[in-house]
Amino acid sequence: TGFLSFSKKPILDEVYKTVEIRQVLYDVELLITPRLVGENICFDKHIEPCTLYCYEEGLKQVMVNLLNNAIDAVQTRLNKSIRVISHCEGGWLQLTVENNGEMIPAEIVENLFQPFFTTKQNGTGIGLSICKNIIEKHNGTISCESTEESTRFIVRLPIATDRL
Ligand code: ADP
Ligand code: MG
Repeated sequence: TGFLSFSKKPILDEVYKTVEIRQVLYDVELLITPRLVGENICFDKHIEPCTLYCYEEGLKQVMVNLLNNAIDAVQTRLNKSIRVISHCEGGWLQLTVENNGEMIPAEIVENLFQPFFTTKQNGTGIGLSICKNIIEKHNGTISCESTEESTRFIVRLPIATDRL
């Protein structure tokens, strides 16, 4: 039953459309480049072509939030590095935002997606809860893995190509 089988939650039909992920990520990169350049961060991307049916502005918001957090997280590093990976397989798009900041303790990882949870002096703690909300409206998932080497936020979205 195509897209309808994914839409268990009410959404505004008209905001959903077919987009190419490379275009979405290109727009996001334009928005975020001033911070990357200004803060001397090495930015790297591996993006496979993939067309999906989604709320484009919402998906951009997710990526901007994840990238802003990644930029905040590499501040203490001598070599600041952020990578975006987009991989398409088995009906799912997987977007990964990876940075080489300090490891997030497990007890903090558990609470990251709660509204108003922040460890920053001037943080709002709202970014990741918005990400989770948008991704779950697509019946996708968002998770965090953090090790001594890197921190990764992984977004998985079903590739619904269109509504039936
Ligand atoms: P804010 O950025 O305003 O603090 P968010 O919801 O975006 O709110 O993030 C919540 C918290 O999650 C942050 O305060 C930080 O502790 C943690 N966090 C998010 N992304 C990262 C990251 N890439 N590396 C380390 N910690 C992170
Ligand atoms: Mg944030």
